[in-house]
Amino acid sequence: MKFDELGLAPEIMTAINDAGYTTPTPIQAEAIPHVIAGRDVLGIAQTGTGKTASFTLPMIHRLMKGRAKARMPRTLILEPTRELAAQVADNFDVYGKNTKLTKALLIGGVSFGDQEKAIMRGADVLIATPGRLLDHVERGGVLLRGVEVLVIDEADRMLDMGFIPDIERIVKLLPFTRQTLFFSATMPPEITRLTQQFLSAPARVEVAPPSSTNDNVSQRLISVPKTQKLKTLKKLFDEEDVTNGIIFCNRKRDIGDLLNALQKSGYPAVSLHGDMDQHMRLKMLDKFKGGEATYLIASDVAARGLDIPAVSHVFNYDVPTHAEDYVHRIGRTGRAGRKGAAITLFSKEDGKYIDAIEKLINRKIDVVKSNDTPDDVTTDKEEKAASKPHRKNDGDKKGNEKGERKGLAAFSKNKRDKKENSDAIPKALHANDKPVQKEPKTDNSTGNASDKTQVGFGENIPAFLKNAPE
Ligand code: AMP
Repeated sequence: MKFDELGLAPEIMTAINDAGYTTPTPIQAEAIPHVIAGRDVLGIAQTGTGKTASFTLPMIHRLMKGRAKARMPRTLILEPTRELAAQVADNFDVYGKNTKLTKALLIGGVSFGDQEKAIMRGADVLIATPGRLLDHVERGGVLLRGVEVLVIDEADRMLDMGFIPDIERIVKLLPFTRQTLFFSATMPPEITRLTQQFLSAPARVEVAPPSSTNDNVSQRLISVPKTQKLKTLKKLFDEEDVTNGIIFCNRKRDIGDLLNALQKSGYPAVSLHGDMDQHMRLKMLDKFKGGEATYLIASDVAARGLDIPAVSHVFNYDVPTHAEDYVHRIGRTGRAGRKGAAITLFSKEDGKYIDAIEKLINRKIDVVKSNDTPDDVTTDKEEKAASKPHRKNDGDKKGNEKGERKGLAAFSKNKRDKKENSDAIPKALHANDKPVQKEPKTDNSTGNASDKTQVGFGENIPAFLKNAPE
């Protein structure tokens, strides 16, 4: 299928050509005609599939007739994080550049004043995170009864972050006759319930199974004792041809420690996590995208949706505790037909998480074994299975998650704002965390000193044997 078969206006076609797109991606080919026809759409697609354009392009097409009134946006796009919202706004600028359509971006960390002005002028498209939008609604700055099209993007992420009660509040303020476009990478039962609530006879468009990983991405597991993770990571940086790498950590405090350690060793690194203000987050992202920093140390807030085409490597410094996060993390590499590498450091106690990941992606990941892996490190699948969690811990976790969800429903205005600025790592996960084993202090200072304090691997980290038998 070609773009000109989709029936988009000439102004949009010119912008698409200028963006260098030749053919629509599968989700675009399937979804765009439904959106133009005014139908509700349920899109099951991950980022990297071109899903943003699948709703932005036909939305612009629809909006070209008519104009927005002050304080009454004509379309509303809800995004779970500030970065995603800002990215959608950028897309809108690119695809809508030949139109006179206006937009407003309502995200936390940016002054209310400028946002209110943009809404007062009349915005055809309002792109917002749920908390900040409700703040504006409560201040009387936005009226949602003129919304013709609603987009709920990354719905499963919204669920993870506890935003569903906010979204339900927002949807109650919209006209019943609106068109709704609903996107989610996965379809847990809670999300299915929401689709029944929000969508009316939707066209279902599914482009890839939610658990699939990209064949362009080589995946490896490296067994390493916790105390040796930093050293192993640096060794990998030196051995691999990393043009641009994202290093994922599970906990925010570890991001800071790792950033300091890498910077002190001369690695050009920046970090991205939810405690940074908006200005800082975008600044860090720009440094990474622009090549000033080769390494981006990130929490899962950066795992979804961010479009950074040149990422050659994803390193999981910690094994993600939610298997879906693994798929999303490694989805940052191997984009747009490029090759990518995903390398996950793991130790004995991560066995249960690796099992869950392998089950989700329905394949075994190669375990790369070092020559002198110490005895306390497991590379063997049976041993990993033996380290499965006790039932009791599972139960505790569920209990905590339940409690947390309940609490989220009652989130106050301030807390919502704070939450949008956080990584929403469920507390339940922290409850089972072991105390953090700090890297030897000297490792965090300058390069050579650390070599003297190591345990486990010994003086020299051995070359990793690629494709070692499982
Ligand atoms: P998304 O899944 O929306 O995050 O998009 C992923 C990337 O694909 C972005 O860099 C888009 O600019 C790019 N993209 C979207 N549609 C197309 C297309 N039809 N042809 C080429 N690239 C595209």
